[in-house]
Amino acid sequence: RELPGDPRTDKIPRQVFRSCYSKVSPSAEVENPQLVAWSESVAELLDLHPEEFERPNFSLFFSGALPLVGGLPYAQCYGGHQFGVWAGQLGDGRAITLGELLSSRGERWELQLKGAGKTPYSRFSDGLAVLRSSIREFLCSEAMHGLGIPTTRALCLVTTGKLVSRDMFYNGNPKDEPGAIVCRVAQSFLRFGSYQIHASRGKEHLDIVPTLADYTIRHHFPHIEKMKNENLSFEMGEEGSLAVDLTSNKYAAWSVEVAERTASLVANWQGVGFTHGVLNTDNMSVLGLTIDYGPFGFLDAFDPSYTPNTTDFSRRRYCYANQPDVGLWNIAQFTGALSAAQLISEEEANYAMERYGNKFMDEYQCIMTKKLGLSKYNRQLIKVLLDNMALDKVDYTNFFRLLPNIKADTSTPNNELIAPLETVLSDIGQQRKEAWISWVKTYIEQLVSSGILDDQRKALMDSVNPKYILRNYLCQNAIDAAEQGDYEEVRRLLKLVERPYDEQPGMEKYAQLPPTWASRPAIAAGS
Ligand code: AMP
Ligand code: MG
Ligand code: MG
Repeated sequence: RELPGDPRTDKIPRQVFRSCYSKVSPSAEVENPQLVAWSESVAELLDLHPEEFERPNFSLFFSGALPLVGGLPYAQCYGGHQFGVWAGQLGDGRAITLGELLSSRGERWELQLKGAGKTPYSRFSDGLAVLRSSIREFLCSEAMHGLGIPTTRALCLVTTGKLVSRDMFYNGNPKDEPGAIVCRVAQSFLRFGSYQIHASRGKEHLDIVPTLADYTIRHHFPHIEKMKNENLSFEMGEEGSLAVDLTSNKYAAWSVEVAERTASLVANWQGVGFTHGVLNTDNMSVLGLTIDYGPFGFLDAFDPSYTPNTTDFSRRRYCYANQPDVGLWNIAQFTGALSAAQLISEEEANYAMERYGNKFMDEYQCIMTKKLGLSKYNRQLIKVLLDNMALDKVDYTNFFRLLPNIKADTSTPNNELIAPLETVLSDIGQQRKEAWISWVKTYIEQLVSSGILDDQRKALMDSVNPKYILRNYLCQNAIDAAEQGDYEEVRRLLKLVERPYDEQPGMEKYAQLPPTWASRPAIAAGS
């Protein structure tokens, strides 16, 4: 066993064996840290009164300069497959959990500072975070929650008052940037890589996998343990599929639930056009949360091969259209770790993967059907639509938000069919117009047969098709202002993305397409 060092001083990079975490204290240098923004809804989850954020010491606590009473800070050990290759131990290189908070609702929330200094897992890096990437993580965590998609949350964002040196890959010169720290909140930050690391280290280490799995099930999937104890029966596989009895092995039941949560998460990403950008297995939450916001991006013009990650421009492993397959690949690595520790059989691992596929298709079809305001899934209609959108580079978000303007009226004359979509189809030529007219015709027939009233359908569609998404250029504008010391735009964007499905009078310009400067490769990535 690695001798535990003094958590206040011991940040020596090392392989940490037979441990899931190392005690370590925050150590980022701070000089007059400032609170940039905070989330009211996360504060509510944690029973934090708004007045707490006004306290003079608040930013000292949330930059790690002052310890929280009762907290036992630590950094987690995990590994991961990066871009398809096993990378060995990674771990929380710049995230430090302060402790867990038990809320009045009886929920346990883990509070974690990202960018608060080195840990034993920092490898060659500084353990710090810059304002640019912290604003992106802060805003997108809350935007994702606003969209109704599972995610780690962000309580607050503080600047450290210190500069951090970063190599910006687009000009190759190190640049000093303002340092910042996000306080992330989740019920757990455990990842696929948290189990993989111990399974990868050979038979001397395999026993850690069930220990951590038992902990996870007990704390985060208690219904599984309960079902087993009460011997309630789980849903069996559908006819013709592998039938695996999940009541006899709680780890098999757990792997199915992880697979299904992941499938549902990815289906939701596809629905809103979110591309994570770095779907390594260390960035896959075992709770099915969106985790680790780096070079993420929302689709502007629909493009299946879109990736916001400049280091992935040639392979496009993590592009938008690949996310469902990557999710499955990652589940295979996760179940592989459980199999290596002999917690599940090969058959049970295959079954979890099969359930991933079924769940993804069910959810994706359901989401797309709702986006179109239909009552029945129509594969061909959706396929032709997405092909058309890709060909004509149609804005994904604005298209779906305009779509309810099409009425269920088969007597609409040909020359008026695409008029309601005018603003998103303005650039297409005559020939392409024919293709769109033909699609709208078929769509109207489907609308008529669904029998949903126009007004009713619009309300339903507006509740699943966001008007406001965290477009990259919006984020960049907020970052530019913040780097000049003006945090108003960050706060305004936060309010905007908290209610993405609502019409917000006066905010329409935030639904506009990106300006031309924003179409160059994202400067969004980096840490
Ligand atoms: P990511 O690609 O963001 O998932 O990061 C992969 C690994 O690099 C994780 O173990 C991170 O904790 C670590 N890492 C990223 N940035 C830093 C940093 N500035 N300092 C220390 N570790 C880092
Ligand atoms: Mg990560
Ligand atoms: Mg990261």
